[in-house]
Amino acid sequence: SKVPPIILNNGVEMPQLGFGVWQVPDDEAERAVSTALEAGYRSIDTAAIYGNEEGTGKAVNGSGLPRQDIFVTTKLWNSDQGYDATLRAFDTSLQKLGLDYIDLYLIHWPVPARETYVDTYKAFEKLYSDGRVRAIGVSNFLPGHIERLIEETSVVPAVNQIELHPHLQQHASRELHAEQGIATEAWSPLGQGKGLLEVPAIVAIAQKHHRTPAQVVLRWHLQLGNVVIPKSVTPSRIKENIDVFDFSLDTEDLAAISALNEDRRIGPDPAAFDIG
Ligand code: NAD
Repeated sequence: SKVPPIILNNGVEMPQLGFGVWQVPDDEAERAVSTALEAGYRSIDTAAIYGNEEGTGKAVNGSGLPRQDIFVTTKLWNSDQGYDATLRAFDTSLQKLGLDYIDLYLIHWPVPARETYVDTYKAFEKLYSDGRVRAIGVSNFLPGHIERLIEETSVVPAVNQIELHPHLQQHASRELHAEQGIATEAWSPLGQGKGLLEVPAIVAIAQKHHRTPAQVVLRWHLQLGNVVIPKSVTPSRIKENIDVFDFSLDTEDLAAISALNEDRRIGPDPAAFDIG
């Protein structure tokens, strides 16, 4: 593959760049994921709540690629938290995907007021020890939630998937992850495309390298060590977003992008988000 892997804390390899399918309707997911696999993506990020595990699975199973060459992530939705509910929800996801194992299973949100994420994670540990998932992790966990999991459970999460882009650089989380050997995976790595790709500093760096602003932002993440999962349903952009392994930003470029931090979220605050 053209995408280099990172090594998770249990030795499993995960492509550093993958394809996200949030907001892709189920009947379009098969085509979008197939386009991504043809373009060289080997990691797909879905979730039960996205409603497109079936379309995603059809593309994976119909790709002609060996199953072990594709890294599939899905996520447990909030309404399925709790030990027994988690085991049932996992079976449903596996069935919808049409797979017999998942590469990475994530708790989608901590919903901390419910006090269920520790029991949920214990069910994840069971799935992991039963060999039904190759790695387990979390999403949208704040440092305190990660610390509590590490104190009360035995498997350190392999990944924390969090909102992360030049306007929200997540220094505290990245530092904790580095200390604990947890991979930082960036959701909305392009800041959902909106204003970020027009920021003059990013446009100037793109012109300097004869690249697009999206490619520059993805390169910034990769050089920091983040896993990225950009989303697009446009074939030319799907290709553009993976065509980032033949150039590098220099230290001045990296510093200029790192100066854009505003600690500004697009998505919800994980301490309060409690839907589903
Ligand atoms: P993103 O930052 O990947 O931006 C996607 C949008 O940017 C596209 O819809 C398009 O409008 C634009 N875009 C993409 N490529 C472009 C290009 N080359 N040039 C110009 N514009 C371009 O945002 P996202 O979809 O929110 O995040 C990516 C993935 O992260 C999702 O699909 C999903 O898999 C995951 N995610 C996870 C969570 C979570 O709670 N764990 C939340 C949001 C997203």
